[in-house]
Amino acid sequence: MNSSTLPATKTRSRFAPSTTGPAHPGTLLAALLAWLDIRSRGGHLLLRLEDLDPERCQPQWHDHMLQDLQWLGLDWDEIQRQTERVEAYSDAMEHLAAQGRLYPCTCSRSEIKRLGVRAPDGGWRYPNTCRNAPLPAGGWRAATTPLRIRLEDEDVVVDDESGTPITQNPALEMGDPVALRRDGAFAYNLAAVVDDGLAGVNRIVRGRDLAPSTPTHWQVQALLGYPHPTYRHHLLFLEKNAQKLAKLHGSVGTPELRPHYSPKQLCGFLAYAVGLLSAPEEVSPAELLPAFDWSRVVKEDILIQWDGTQLSKEG
Ligand code: GLU
Ligand code: ZN
Repeated sequence: MNSSTLPATKTRSRFAPSTTGPAHPGTLLAALLAWLDIRSRGGHLLLRLEDLDPERCQPQWHDHMLQDLQWLGLDWDEIQRQTERVEAYSDAMEHLAAQGRLYPCTCSRSEIKRLGVRAPDGGWRYPNTCRNAPLPAGGWRAATTPLRIRLEDEDVVVDDESGTPITQNPALEMGDPVALRRDGAFAYNLAAVVDDGLAGVNRIVRGRDLAPSTPTHWQVQALLGYPHPTYRHHLLFLEKNAQKLAKLHGSVGTPELRPHYSPKQLCGFLAYAVGLLSAPEEVSPAELLPAFDWSRVVKEDILIQWDGTQLSKEG
């Protein structure tokens, strides 16, 4: 077959919320933007519920998340739950172990924190102290400590579609990422890369708070033999205290918003807040599609307030 007759590779994207609580305005904004992006290019959208953290994730939040996103008027082509995919993560661990890339880390969180060096994501940098420690005789499955992935000490430059390249030496600036946690759960930095790779995700649209993890993911993709997706990191909704509007910070969740907003009113507010509408009209995600273009979405983070009945943006 002539290559010009081959179908173009379909764009495959995903929205990957953690099921640690109700969707908050920042979650809904990220979902709406990922949805508009992929639907405007006729691609495939995977909804991946990131539920591996046994302390923070509860099964009931799965249904809440699905209902909240559906309520807003979003849809997807496929749903995955990370807790159902541990075999895929185990295969990836085998692969990394065979390459000599996994090592046990005996450093406690407080030891790492005591060193006092901040990482680009605001956490504490891990200085790769245990890099030369061997895996236990029984292999990675016999580990009784967290396992980390030994990355290459090299600069990674990711061309973010937003226009600001992400440049980082993840091994040195973040430290080698954890693949298997102390509690036995597979870690985000492993699971997200494996899931994206196996699902053929070739486009990642997500909030700017995740940009500092991208160079780490880039290197793990290479170690596991997955092609690199294209990335676009977008603005965040911030609270007064200049932190992300996150459910964990006591911000308003969808259950408190829903009595005060119809889906179209809330969608209109989100679209207005980021510059897609000049006023907060009532609109569905589908009605935003024809005119959607990233050039119309503001780049700067936006301060949002909730007064108990209404959301408003500052400035
Ligand atoms: N579950 C992550 C979060 O909600 C996002 C993962 C991702 O988009 O890579 O922050
Ligand atoms: Zn260590």
